[in-house]
Amino acid sequence: MNNKLVLVLNCGSSSLKFAVINADNGGEIMSGLAECFNLPEARIKWKMAGTKKSTSLPPYSAHSAAISFIVEEIIKKEAGLTEQFVAVGHRIVHGGERFTESVIIDDHVLEGIEQCSSLAPLHNPAHALGIRAAQVAFPALPQVAVFDTAFHQTMPAKAFMYALPYHLYKEYSIRRYGMHGTSNLFVTHEAAKILNKPVDDLNVICAHLGNGASVTAIKKGQSVDTSMGLTPLDGLVMGTRCGDLDPSIIEYLITRLGYSIEGVMEILQKQSGLLGISGISSDFREIIAGYEQGSKRATLAIDMFIYRLAKYIASYAVPLGHIDAIIFTGGIGENSPLVRSKVLELLTIFGYQVDGEKNKAAILGNQGIITIAGSPIAMVIPTNEEWVIAQDSAKLVSNQSLSL
Ligand code: AMP
Repeated sequence: MNNKLVLVLNCGSSSLKFAVINADNGGEIMSGLAECFNLPEARIKWKMAGTKKSTSLPPYSAHSAAISFIVEEIIKKEAGLTEQFVAVGHRIVHGGERFTESVIIDDHVLEGIEQCSSLAPLHNPAHALGIRAAQVAFPALPQVAVFDTAFHQTMPAKAFMYALPYHLYKEYSIRRYGMHGTSNLFVTHEAAKILNKPVDDLNVICAHLGNGASVTAIKKGQSVDTSMGLTPLDGLVMGTRCGDLDPSIIEYLITRLGYSIEGVMEILQKQSGLLGISGISSDFREIIAGYEQGSKRATLAIDMFIYRLAKYIASYAVPLGHIDAIIFTGGIGENSPLVRSKVLELLTIFGYQVDGEKNKAAILGNQGIITIAGSPIAMVIPTNEEWVIAQDSAKLVSNQSLSL
């Protein structure tokens, strides 16, 4: 029987993540990362069948050299996979208001992705580069765009509007878009299976907690509010991003302290969040180590992370009314019993009671409910964005397998 394989690409400006996924069952055939684009030390690493490999790419390589290495050296030569591919699926960070679902890429779609670059200047131009390079490397394969923002296009205006002059929305599309939509979609469907409830009857709050972190209110299977905004800088305390902020701080930094706008954005995006508060790292494992060694700033960083998250979750009782479950996912959500128990402790007004053993056991890819019988439900679900991209891609293209 032929597998339906999809090459999933996530192209950044200086790196590219890739995976070959079986769209039928989510099985990962291989995955890897090409990085240090446009630098002398450009390189690529990948893992397949339990074996990890790495090599340097020609100096100053970027997307097209990386993609052609992936196709020729890894997929064709090493894996001997020349058939069974049905599509290339691209993760696209920003689809603006134009893209409300995944689409097959043609010239108009590519133009649309480039037009959204003003909303995601770090990501969308790199996605467009990756799409063009993939079109050259896979001339016979359809390319599909799967948007992080698409899932949130169901939000009502009262949730997605900023209280700014209305013309800034009408003329410049300044509004909340939200991110992590692909992850939200996946875990919501998994939760529906666990709770044995139809997705379109399910109300959940999804806390996607990784380096970037967001929380989303999902009513009857659809996003109705989310913490990330015009860009992924808004909302929760993150690895290096500040999340919610009084905008006057920006004016203060510029006019009183002499920062340039670039300097301010560098602070807000790269020097804030857990890193800025703890002074230790943006990596949650290192913050936990600091907390266990009694570091006051690591403790404060964890307290702030948890407090803001719990406040957001509590506030989403407003749009949802009834909450079937809180879902924890992402690197921190899937692996930190400490964060989950502390967040749920702050939510005792709703009656959450953690099952210590189940909470401890839900790590390293184990999923399940972590609250005691009789408590409102909280659960851990490992996310799988690549599978959603592969599934959407396979669904959108012909079932017929093509040769590379
Ligand atoms: P992601 O962006 O989803 O890959 O998540 C990355 C974040 O997950 C980093 O802050 C990691 O430190 C964190 N993380 C990974 N494993 C653990 C763990 N065992 N305990 C706490 N945090 C973890």
